Amino acid sequence: MGDQVELLINDERLRQVPEILPVLPIRDTVIYPYIIQPLCIGREKSRRALEAAMSRDRYLLLVAQRDTTNDDPMPEDLYTVGTVVECLQMLRLPDDTVRVTVEGLARMQVRKFIQLDPHLEADGVVLIDEEPEGKEIHALMRSALGLFEHCLHLGNRIPIESLEHVRQVDEPGRLADLITSYVNPTLEEKQAILACFNPAERLEKLIALLHTEAEMLEIERRIHSKVKKGLESSQKEFYLRERMKAIQEELGERDERAAEFEELRQKIESAGMPEAIHTRALKDLDRLERMPLASPEVTVMRTYLDWLLSMPWSVRSEDLLNLDAAEDVLNVDHYGLPKVKERILEYLAVRRLNPKMRGPILCFVGPPGVGKTSIGRSIARALGREFVRISLGGIRDEGEIRGHRRTYVGALPGRIVQGMKTAGKRNPVFMMDEIDKIGQDFRGDPSAALLEVLDPEQNNAFSDHYLEVPLDLSEVMFITTANLLDPIPSALRDRMEVIEFPGYTEDEKMHIARLFLVPKQLKEHGLAAKNLTIAHETLLEIIRRYTREAGVRNLEREIATICRKVARQVAAGNRKSFTVKPQHLHAFLGVERFRYGLAEERDEVGMATGLGWTPTGGDILAVEVSLMPGKGQLQLTGQLGDVMQESAKTAVSYARARAAALGIPAERFAETDIHIHVPAGQIPKDGPSAGITLATALISAITKRPVRRTVAMTGEITLRGHVLPVGGIKEKMLGAHRAGVTTIILPEENRKDLEELPIHVREALIFHFVDRMPKVLEVALLPANSES
Ligand code: ADP
Repeated sequence: MGDQVELLINDERLRQVPEILPVLPIRDTVIYPYIIQPLCIGREKSRRALEAAMSRDRYLLLVAQRDTTNDDPMPEDLYTVGTVVECLQMLRLPDDTVRVTVEGLARMQVRKFIQLDPHLEADGVVLIDEEPEGKEIHALMRSALGLFEHCLHLGNRIPIESLEHVRQVDEPGRLADLITSYVNPTLEEKQAILACFNPAERLEKLIALLHTEAEMLEIERRIHSKVKKGLESSQKEFYLRERMKAIQEELGERDERAAEFEELRQKIESAGMPEAIHTRALKDLDRLERMPLASPEVTVMRTYLDWLLSMPWSVRSEDLLNLDAAEDVLNVDHYGLPKVKERILEYLAVRRLNPKMRGPILCFVGPPGVGKTSIGRSIARALGREFVRISLGGIRDEGEIRGHRRTYVGALPGRIVQGMKTAGKRNPVFMMDEIDKIGQDFRGDPSAALLEVLDPEQNNAFSDHYLEVPLDLSEVMFITTANLLDPIPSALRDRMEVIEFPGYTEDEKMHIARLFLVPKQLKEHGLAAKNLTIAHETLLEIIRRYTREAGVRNLEREIATICRKVARQVAAGNRKSFTVKPQHLHAFLGVERFRYGLAEERDEVGMATGLGWTPTGGDILAVEVSLMPGKGQLQLTGQLGDVMQESAKTAVSYARARAAALGIPAERFAETDIHIHVPAGQIPKDGPSAGITLATALISAITKRPVRRTVAMTGEITLRGHVLPVGGIKEKMLGAHRAGVTTIILPEENRKDLEELPIHVREALIFHFVDRMPKVLEVALLPANSES
């Protein structure tokens, strides 16, 4: 309507309108008398009609097309009431269209189309509004004006100046025309108004139209105010979305998908994400909304958003920093382990004084079953935090830690992110088991990713390939566990504070079994204390003959087996109470699995007892040597590693070099083959610490002096017979004690390591500290021919 101008028409001009006029079909609009409006003409035939008009007296008949898409309308496609216009101004545009400004003069009823080509021509009659009288017409006019004004206030589609304009018109028919052109209804409605020759009727039609319009505007306004209510941010996008929602609601078509998106959106809003991630999540949600439902991308994106949302962006547990309570929790859950508990309480104390302190990363090192995992769980309980645990064993691919990029089919985040999801809090106790068993190959180095996780300087922005956005791990308390310290890459080891779990003595195991394992298993099997009593000696027998371990895992398993069998009997109603004595063990647990006591029953020639350090704790290790007539060859069996083989060769060389001093004829070695075997054959063994044991067994074999069976030893040997210190003393001593050894030969320099031994173990063993091989032989060997 902006381009419309209304003019007065003098009757003189109307009288000059000829009966035969060129016809211009128009689409989309209707032009009323008294209106001046520009039109663009592109169709060839229309241009010809215009040219015809211009070459005559500038009068043209405009008739609306019924079907606006028809490019070459025939008479039957046109309405039969049109408007006579005068062409005021014509302008040819460079793109071949013509712009013409026309002034509507009067309605015209087509009587007949008299020409089709080169342009349409019709014979018509001009219709002038009659002048109605009476009060009714005034009432209609007032009502139309009132409604128009109402519409004007409801929406802002109609320019406000139009009101002034409309008010000046006092002819009813013209008023109806003018208002219609401002309100701009559909083509049919406009045409209906044009085809209505009676002003009163025309006003009535208009009033109906205005009522509908007012209603529409009302709805729009409601939507608008709903939008406004929900409008907190002034973001345009947000505004539009709310608007769409309100429209959908109004139309009753908020489908499930929209509801799902809405839910996702709310989740994103309430997830407490950092600003950048929040923006990104919304953007991704936007992309998701625009994706066609069938696109395979939809699931990928949906899963991704779910992962993003499952991260604990802002949820954390409140730390319980009551030291006494924490100490209670630790003691209630575990027997012994004083060093570990002390370290944890120190940690809590520091946190209490300085809550911002970045905690150290603890690394629990020790054989299986010594309570590393379960104390981790207790720490979480003592701190009031969540506990999660992942295993790093066998991971070779960096992607396992850090996730795979989403471009890969079926990609997932890495274990850290998965762990954080399980935790559901920003600050869990996060245990990573078997950090000594991560591998490394062409798929990237997982330990590099771990370094980032464990580095307090970097882990506030840990990046997972799948998640793509940085995740803050700085509040997580990481604990790693390992069986051995050596295989842990040194860069990682440097980041951590190592706490060693040496393994338990028999005595400790008894306590743990009585106070923790038996009650726990009874409970798990639904048994009451009165149902089952396991006698003290019975537990001792289980420890000695059914398990051989540093921890208590198998012990717990054996106790569970007994409970299971008893539970079955109790459930069957056979008996109510059992007391398990040592003689019943065979029935419950089958044959004994280990021989308790010394490696050997007798003092033997060519057989010495060493002490090994395995991932499952310290243990005794028998070394056998056999001599056969031959050519001085050395044979080594029992899966000995390189270092151990070299150790054996060194022992042999030492013995040869010392032949004279040992009272052995020098040529003995040249005519003898030596076979050294270390059972159990299927377990690989390595390290230099069996050196003196190998030498002792060999010299015993050659000199025929038996080795005392109560003696066990460990120490590295040099070619010159010096005895060098070795590692793992504590574990080895516990192993020796378990096996019933009474006398220990240790390198002099390992003397200091005994301080860490539990008192009763230290007191139960006799130690000989040596620095040279002859001293070893002095303690270990009996005189020749004294085999018992
Ligand atoms: P690890 O993680 O070192 O292999 P676990 O934590 O799995 O060992 O311990 C094995 C079992 O032994 C658990 O049931 C644990 O509760 C129990 N356990 C180990 N040490 C103790 C202890 N000092 N006091 C009580 N129970 C213990």
